[in-house]
This record gives sequence, structure tokens and C-alpha cells, in this order.
Amino acid sequence: MGLSATFRCFRGCDGSYPLTQAIYRCPTCDGLLAVRHDMAALAKTSGEEWRARFDRRWSATSASGVWSKREWVAPEVPEDAIVTTGEGMTPLVSSARAAGPVRRLATELGFGELLVKQCGTTHTGSFKDLGMTVLVSVVNHAVRSRALDVRAIACASTGDTSAALAAYGAAAGLPVVVLLPRGMVSVTQLVQPLSHGARVLALDTDFDGCMRVVRELSARGLVYLANSMNPLRIEGQKTVAIEIAQQLGWEVPDWVVIPSGNLGNSAALWEGFAMAKELGVVDRLPRLCIAQAENANPMYLAFKAGRRDEVPAVVAKPTQASAIRIGNPVSAPRAMAALEAMGGVVEQASEAELADACARADRSGLYADPHTGVAIACARTLRERGTIRADDRVVVVSTASGLKFTEFKLGYHERKLPDVDATLANTPIPLPADVDEVAKHLA
Ligand SMILES: *Cc1c(COP(=O)(O)O)cnc(C)c1O
Ligand SMILES: [Zn+2]
Repeated sequence: MGLSATFRCFRGCDGSYPLTQAIYRCPTCDGLLAVRHDMAALAKTSGEEWRARFDRRWSATSASGVWSKREWVAPEVPEDAIVTTGEGMTPLVSSARAAGPVRRLATELGFGELLVKQCGTTHTGSFKDLGMTVLVSVVNHAVRSRALDVRAIACASTGDTSAALAAYGAAAGLPVVVLLPRGMVSVTQLVQPLSHGARVLALDTDFDGCMRVVRELSARGLVYLANSMNPLRIEGQKTVAIEIAQQLGWEVPDWVVIPSGNLGNSAALWEGFAMAKELGVVDRLPRLCIAQAENANPMYLAFKAGRRDEVPAVVAKPTQASAIRIGNPVSAPRAMAALEAMGGVVEQASEAELADACARADRSGLYADPHTGVAIACARTLRERGTIRADDRVVVVSTASGLKFTEFKLGYHERKLPDVDATLANTPIPLPADVDEVAKHLA
């Protein structure tokens, strides 16, 4: 069909660059890049045909959700260069199911319909797989076709990016370097890249400090940059939006609430919905809520102050939502545009609110990671304020598996989390190994 995609300036400067080139900023204005598709070529297929094609592929077994949308993602990567773990096609759990794990949560919080997109139900346990399969596949293709010479693929990470990069890099046989803020990621997130054989550099700084270092390394040509400043990641992540619409029978929800740090994922959500709308696959955009932790809230502060141009950096404080402990978000300009296009708002959640939201969600049968807790807490605030209406259909994007955050869960139930009054704490009850004693307790 002659489909193609290139890197172009996000702000619209002239010039386009092949996806196989190691380029991360616009040479003219030094701003962010975007992947732009040949929309005229894509539009030769009608919205109805795209829906039918995507639905056919959804029912095929052993497929990848991301690559089932490959024409919209990276159409020129050959099949045999794709590095996949079968990412995507994650459950969208709805409170409309009488016995589902969202039902009681939705009732307690007063939602008409609440749905949770379970992006953590995936190979490395977070949505980062969606973007990483695209980035590593493009690099794999570029290296094999000798368009690119890569010594190592590298990222700064709050944990989940490094886990995903290390897994996909290992699968492709490409060397991986990850830069982590020392002592600030969960044990699981640290063990993942170590297990996959990545070179793990623990730096004495925060995420923003790691980001500065890896940007400079990539500018010097020493490593290929795998952070979401590289828009290849966004191309994969945007499939979440398409999947949400698809799982709702190609209807768009009223709201999507997404926990955000570096803001690449909220931008990806917009790109996915916008592309689906432009190609006639859906008829409108949902409203967007960017959900931040109060302790790492630069986007919230900028939005509150009425800023629609840039996001002043802050120093992010510790938060249980460690993957979004970011003070200087790289994708801020993309997220500003997303808010504008989607009638968006920014909300924040305190440590107590996010922990309480997780505990309530868990009591309802979910197993919410702290970032999902931030999103649920923010959705609750918007509902209480009436911004989200009682009959709105609301999708919360759950970004990671709760299983990665055992220390957080344990800390909650042992009442050891700072600034959190754990009202739903639940601890083991020591009893003698004696039937009568146990029976007496149960009575
Ligand atoms: C990376 C990450 C986020 C934030 O995504 P951004 O694109 O940085 O805004 C949220 N939750 C989890 C679990 C993550 O790993
Ligand atoms: Zn530019």
C-alpha cells in the first residue's frame, strides 16, 4: 500500500527524517520530534474497513496488540525484525459486570460506569512494553539493514522503562544500559534489568538527573536514546487509545484518566484517539485527565496557574508513586497540546489519597499499583466536584501491575507509610496451631 512514516518537528518546522536515524530533536528549533504518517495513504482505507481489519486481528491468537495496528505504528518494519512479547490486548475491566473487580469501587465512588484498562497485565508488568516493542523493533531493523550503528540502547528510568528496555533488548540481542536513581525504584523494578543482563548504573541523583546524563550521552553519539523523548515509544503507547475504543465497540468513553510523570503516555493517548478520529474509526475524542502525585506535580501547578505554553520544572519529592516522581517532564509540550485538544484537566492526589484509593480498589478485587491509585483518587476528586458527571463513562488507565509494588502494599498494611493513615490495613493474626483455638477465633 506504500504506507510510510517519518520523524518531523512536533512544532512543524520543515524537514523529515527516516525512523531508522538516531535523531531526537528538531535540528531547526531544538524542540521535540513526532512520528508523522502518510495520512493520505492511510485514508484510502475507510474507517469501517480499519475497524473490521483490527477486529479480525484481535481475535487471532498469539498476536501483539501493538503490531495488530502496525500500519498506524511503524508500517515499514519488516515482520522478521519485530521484537515482541505479545504486548497489548490487555483487559478493560468494567463496573458494568455484576461480579467484576471494579463494581464495588465504582458504586462507592459514585461512578455511572468505571472501567480500568489493565496495562500492567503484560510481559514486564507495565505499559512501557507497548512503546518498547516499537523502539527496539525499529532499532533492530535499522541495525540489520546497516542504517544504524548502535553500541548500546540506553534510558533513564524510574524503574519500568528500564525493565521493558532490558527485556526487549535481551530478546533482540542488543546491549542495554540503564540509568536509575539510586535507592528510588522498587526491588522488583531493580531486579528486572539485572536479570536481563543490562548494565545497570545506579546514579546518586533523581530521575531528572539521570535524564540529563543520558540525553548528553546520546547527543555525543555514545548510546541510542530509548526514553519517550524518542517518539517511537509514543507510537506504540498510542495503541492503548485505539484498544479502549475497540473494546467499547468503537465507542469513545467520556473521560480517560491517566497517571503521568514524564507525560509521554498522556501525549500518546491523544495521538491514538486523534489518529482514530482523523481516519474515521471513532467520531470524537474523550476528555483527558492527567493525574499527578501531589509530591511531583509540575503539570498540575502549571495548569492551575493558567499556563498553556510551558511547564516550569520543580524538584520532585518522594512519593509512593515512584514511577511518576518527575519534576521536569520531557513531553510537557506534547501534553499541553493533548489537554487543549481533549478539553483536558490536570488533577493531583496526596500520598494519603493514592494509598487509600489503592486499598479500596484492592478490597473491590483489583490489585492496584500506586500510580493507578493516583488515577483513581483523581477521578474521585473530579467526580466529587461534579466535573465528571454521574452518568459519565470513565476509563482509568492502570499503568503497572500491583505485584511490582509489594513494599508499598506491605508498608500500607503494616501502617508504616509516611503521611498515610491506613484505615483499611489488614495484617496476619497469629494463633496457635490448634483447631479449637482457630474455631474460637472464627466464631
Ligand atoms: C512510566 C510510568 C508512568 C508515567 O508515564 P509518563 O509517560 O512518564 O507520563 C505511570 N505509571 C507507571 C507505572 C509508569 O511506569
Ligand atoms: Zn522544529
